[in-house]
Amino acid sequence: MASDDEINVLVLVLDVNPVWWGQQAQREPKFTLSTCLDALMVLANAHLVMSRTNKLAVIANLYQESHFLYPSKQWRSGEDISASTDGKYELLSATNDLFAEEIRKLMERTGQEVKSRILVIKASEDSTLQYMNFMNVIFAAQKKNILIDACVLDSDSGLLQQACDITGGLYLRIPQKIALAQYLLWVFLPDADQRSQLLLPPPVHVDYRAACFCHRNLIEIGYVCSVCLSIFCNFSPICTTCETAFKMPLPQVAKTKKKKVKTTN
Ligand SMILES: [Zn+2]
Ligand SMILES: [Zn+2]
Repeated sequence: MASDDEINVLVLVLDVNPVWWGQQAQREPKFTLSTCLDALMVLANAHLVMSRTNKLAVIANLYQESHFLYPSKQWRSGEDISASTDGKYELLSATNDLFAEEIRKLMERTGQEVKSRILVIKASEDSTLQYMNFMNVIFAAQKKNILIDACVLDSDSGLLQQACDITGGLYLRIPQKIALAQYLLWVFLPDADQRSQLLLPPPVHVDYRAACFCHRNLIEIGYVCSVCLSIFCNFSPICTTCETAFKMPLPQVAKTKKKKVKTTN
């Protein structure tokens, strides 16, 4: 049993990619963003009423932006985000700062145990543009003992499979989107301790191959940039991610010649 003082933080990250959700609304059976939001609200409310110490944060994720949906009253007064000219970057940094601040405040409270977990509702395809950020998030979460759960609405995500496996979270691609609320309550409402007592879907086979940044193909052997760790299936003289220029590999003939010279010396 969880003690009364224990704080449980549930962070919901919802993929609101408008293209993917627009396509869904035209298909049968209809599965709209508002249907998904309704299901998420059920989960959020259930989490909040489970214990008075349970905390909640909801983040909407766009292609290269994220928005805090809850809590929103934390915004500093007088700060008009929509009025800023390059709002995207400011918004992102303000969101990150505020969220980090809140988490820090929580951590600083009189040694109370804080257990956090992140649930990602994934709709659209993985974007390799975010690969580095995402891997950093996974390792940071692992270090801080934060579970990453993934509820996948469409095609599988190798990145999220790895994130869940590394952090001890649950990865589930739901067979029926229309039953989202049931899956959320059954699989993702219970925390890590409660899960050990439940019969849950079996763990998925995790594909640990990395995707090359050039074609997004899964590869077993590839070229890794020594500066930014980007992965490529073909040798390229300039890293397309960090623009580091590499020395061209010497032709085989030149190499053997050099060797011979060395041995004679
Ligand atoms: Zn490639
Ligand atoms: Zn690089």
